[in-house]
Amino acid sequence: MVKYYEDNYCRELDTAIREVLHEGDNTYIRLADTIFYAQGGGQKSDRGIIIMDGKEYRMLKSVKDENGDPVHLTDIPDPLPGQQVHLVLDWDFRYLQMKLHTCLHIMHLLIEEQIGHEIENPLVADIEETFAYNKYPNAVVSGVDMGQVERNMNELFAQDIEVTTYENENDAHYRYWKCREDVIPCGGIHVHHLNEIGNIRLSSHAKKGKMTVKVELV
Ligand SMILES: [Zn+2]
Repeated sequence: MVKYYEDNYCRELDTAIREVLHEGDNTYIRLADTIFYAQGGGQKSDRGIIIMDGKEYRMLKSVKDENGDPVHLTDIPDPLPGQQVHLVLDWDFRYLQMKLHTCLHIMHLLIEEQIGHEIENPLVADIEETFAYNKYPNAVVSGVDMGQVERNMNELFAQDIEVTTYENENDAHYRYWKCREDVIPCGGIHVHHLNEIGNIRLSSHAKKGKMTVKVELV
């Protein structure tokens, strides 16, 4: 298991370069272990720096390789397997992503709760710098009182409710998110307790038959 799943609050890590991959002018490194979350599931790649021999380099992007394992785009001039590195995560950015991403799961579940049955997954679930949103076909969420969903979300986020994640026992690349009795397949990273999120604000707008529901932290 990679460190960002094992302990997603880990901000710094000593590790080593395991493999160097060249793709055109880009250099990617695979690390023995990593705290840099690889982009996916609407959650952005982590940002951070890599310190090697006392020098600071940039971790420009963390992506999944063809097997779903994380590799990192870096500006280290000539990285070599075996070199020791120290990773430093841009924690403020990551923590906000963890909160917003967790918000989207809860929002979806509370919309379902209000409607009284399961609904299809959003057409788009994305996280920007300071907000996140789900986009649904209008018909799926028509009649939902978003003000009530917002109040219900804030009620939950005022409580110390645990969030856990775990991997599929047959395929470690396939993971689940669990909160209360709800389980959602998800390989993202989340806060461990809902009260870390604090207060949120919802807003929604409909366009071309689709409804975008946006969540911001306040
Ligand atoms: Zn998730």
